[in-house]
Amino acid sequence: MDERALQLQDRLAAVRARITAASRAAGRDVEPGLIVVTKFHPAADVSRLAGLGIRDVGENRDQEASAKAAELPGLGLRWHFIGQLQSKKAKSVVKYAHSVQSVDRPQLAEALAKAILRAQEETGRPDLDCFIQVSLDDDAGEHRGGAAPAAVGQLADSIAEAPGLRLAGVMAVAPLGGRPEDAFERLAGISAALREAHPGADAISAGMSQDLEAAVLHGATHLRIGSDILGSRPAVG
Ligand SMILES: *Cc1c(COP(=O)(O)O)cnc(C)c1O
Repeated sequence: MDERALQLQDRLAAVRARITAASRAAGRDVEPGLIVVTKFHPAADVSRLAGLGIRDVGENRDQEASAKAAELPGLGLRWHFIGQLQSKKAKSVVKYAHSVQSVDRPQLAEALAKAILRAQEETGRPDLDCFIQVSLDDDAGEHRGGAAPAAVGQLADSIAEAPGLRLAGVMAVAPLGGRPEDAFERLAGISAALREAHPGADAISAGMSQDLEAAVLHGATHLRIGSDILGSRPAVG
């Protein structure tokens, strides 16, 4: 292992310890899954992470993600798309993504539905897991993407009805400034309402480096952790 791999190993262990402690504190038997967010970091780091047993990685830009996925075949990685996505990129994303966690409008769901059918014809790939990204900002001025909570039901129906798409659950980013506990409690309520109509859509993707403990407390099934494992990234994008 090179020095960077050792560093990643240490940071990964520290994050895992936090997840275990938070799960115990919350009385959870099953720990949430870890998606390591590798955006802005080179494919070599993704490869090191794979060597450390990481299987799930997250990216937020199609150009960067598709290049890394092409560079790293055969590592058994699952790529999770977590960024705002233009409908015209759907065709590219379904070539490598295991999930799209940022489905926030009907047009995008339609574009993904069309793209996945074609990809399945060509490669026989499995269905695409789709998470509905929910906006927990009351203030529409600050835009980090996401559907309004009131729009989740209809969007869920359209994803669930589309062959090739699997409705996995919900995803959210805690709003800046507020308490993440409040945001994730609200998300848990939105998830419960969604599961009444779609019992299988039980995934909750929530929690980043700063707020993973709050997310674990409120039932997150997937955590998306970047900087606490890979280090800080350039402040762009
Ligand atoms: C970058 C990003 C993360 C990871 O955030 P960190 O603070 O680096 O852990 C998680 N989710 C989304 C949607 C992101 O864009």
